[in-house]
Amino acid sequence: MPKDFLHGVRDSYDVVVIGAGLAGMTAANTLARAGHSVLLLEQHYKLGGLATWFRRPGGHIFDVSLHGFPVGMVKSCRRYWSRPIADSIVQLKNIRFHNPMFSLSTTFDREDFTRLLTGRFGIAPRTVQEFFDTARSMNFYDDQATTTGQLFERFFPGREDVVRLLMEPITYANGSTLEDPALTYGIVFSNFMSKGVYTFQGGTDRLIALMGDELRKNGVDVRIRAGCDRVLVDRGRRVAGVAAAGRTIRARAVVSNGNLKGTILGLVGEEHFDPDFVEKARAVRLNNSSTQVYMALRPGETIDEEACGDLLFSSTAPAFRTELLLGRNITSRTYSFYYPRTRPGRDRYLVVSSTNANYGDWAGLSREEYEASKRDLIETTLADIERHVPGIRQKLDAVDCSTPVTFERYTRHVDGASFGTKFEGLAVSRGLPEQVAGLYHAGSVGIIMSGWLGAVNYGVIVANDVDSFLMAGSSRRTAEPAESV
Ligand SMILES: Cc1cc2nc3c(=O)[nH]c(=O)nc-3n(C[C@H](O)[C@H](O)[C@H](O)COP(=O)(O)OP(=O)(O)OC[C@H]3O[C@@H](n4cnc5c(N)ncnc54)[C@H](O)[C@@H]3O)c2cc1C
Repeated sequence: MPKDFLHGVRDSYDVVVIGAGLAGMTAANTLARAGHSVLLLEQHYKLGGLATWFRRPGGHIFDVSLHGFPVGMVKSCRRYWSRPIADSIVQLKNIRFHNPMFSLSTTFDREDFTRLLTGRFGIAPRTVQEFFDTARSMNFYDDQATTTGQLFERFFPGREDVVRLLMEPITYANGSTLEDPALTYGIVFSNFMSKGVYTFQGGTDRLIALMGDELRKNGVDVRIRAGCDRVLVDRGRRVAGVAAAGRTIRARAVVSNGNLKGTILGLVGEEHFDPDFVEKARAVRLNNSSTQVYMALRPGETIDEEACGDLLFSSTAPAFRTELLLGRNITSRTYSFYYPRTRPGRDRYLVVSSTNANYGDWAGLSREEYEASKRDLIETTLADIERHVPGIRQKLDAVDCSTPVTFERYTRHVDGASFGTKFEGLAVSRGLPEQVAGLYHAGSVGIIMSGWLGAVNYGVIVANDVDSFLMAGSSRRTAEPAESV
């Protein structure tokens, strides 16, 4: 008999959360802490969604999306998760750039960027200050017509080198480009500039294990290998529950952490929405996907920490261009270096190379073409990294890679989107409960709600909305107030 992963599941819950990515888990945890009964359904055999890891023979553990997030994660994890989680967040202090325009090393905060922009790039201190202040003052309700490219042109006209310094890491962090609204840049850039780049000591596996323990401690019914097939909506356009593995589970509210478009057009079905809302949902642009190459050194082999740093934004492109960043002919790679201090108690050195990529370049290939493309991805990356870590090829014990098709397969994200949707997705995500009472979405959308910090904070914001919905007429304790993103 196949194992029943829904064995013992109740007939009804206050809330069903579909998907155990960072936003889904955070929403589930916040709602359970507020006293609601919560079922968390995850189709994969692991919790975490894109916050994930995998093992390879030889004891190697690769992190997929643990490369860097802003300091705000400490506060969010302390408030909405636990102190041991918050206390494991540490700074990455050596961020490097290497491209035909410049090579430099920075702590990636406002003070150091001011030093670089005024000293090395020769920008007037007043302009730098005004730029930082403008970026920091941006918020969701601002003018959405100005693009990031126009913002740069206003402060640094004709300075492609400055644009590259300011934009390349953010493109990598959330897939945004010069053509996206400036406020998406301002919010995310300022989050990083406040105190630099942070990581989770102990690896993604430790973080997700701690989060899993916390969820269970707070009473969330956590189920893996339990994909939701359908969100059930009654005739009054109210959520009725979910269908999963042949069962019907009733719920007063449903939060989908799955891909926004997949949720509306697939899990719920367009027949439950106003036609103009469906049109808006169809028009939402997905963000790009990624490729990665994972490299593990043999036990005993090392990498020079001082020389390589923690993160290296490396490019051979003469200038910063969106199409070059996404193209199959890769010119830009971000290398994350993992030292034994990343995972205390282990002695391994690993490197992960990440590149933004188009789904269309990888989907629809024949098996042979796909395998050949993967081999080419690995080979070209090894050739490139030799420029930064000479001799690394001879030290390697394990090499693997992932493509947009891999991300699609493991998370069911339409087109393997790594960072949810473009800006317009946020309004559609927020508009769901007005269409179907009790239906919510919490997951990477709108650029500003993506990445580890964006996803966690959006989970809290949505949990508070759900709590208010459920609390109407009830006297139970309410969820904690949402942190602003
Ligand atoms: C290569 C790469 C590198 C990245 N690097 C960084 C980084 O350095 N810093 C950073 O901050 N962010 C980074 N990110 C982005 C970050 O990982 C994501 O924005 C974040 O983890 C997304 O969380 P989420 O809650 O939106 O959901 P996701 O992680 O997308 O999870 C959604 C979950 O829903 C589940 N699901 C979907 N459909 C169903 C269904 N029908 N039933 C049950 N379960 C379902 C999926 O299996 C998945 O577990 C990176 C992403 C990628 C791909």
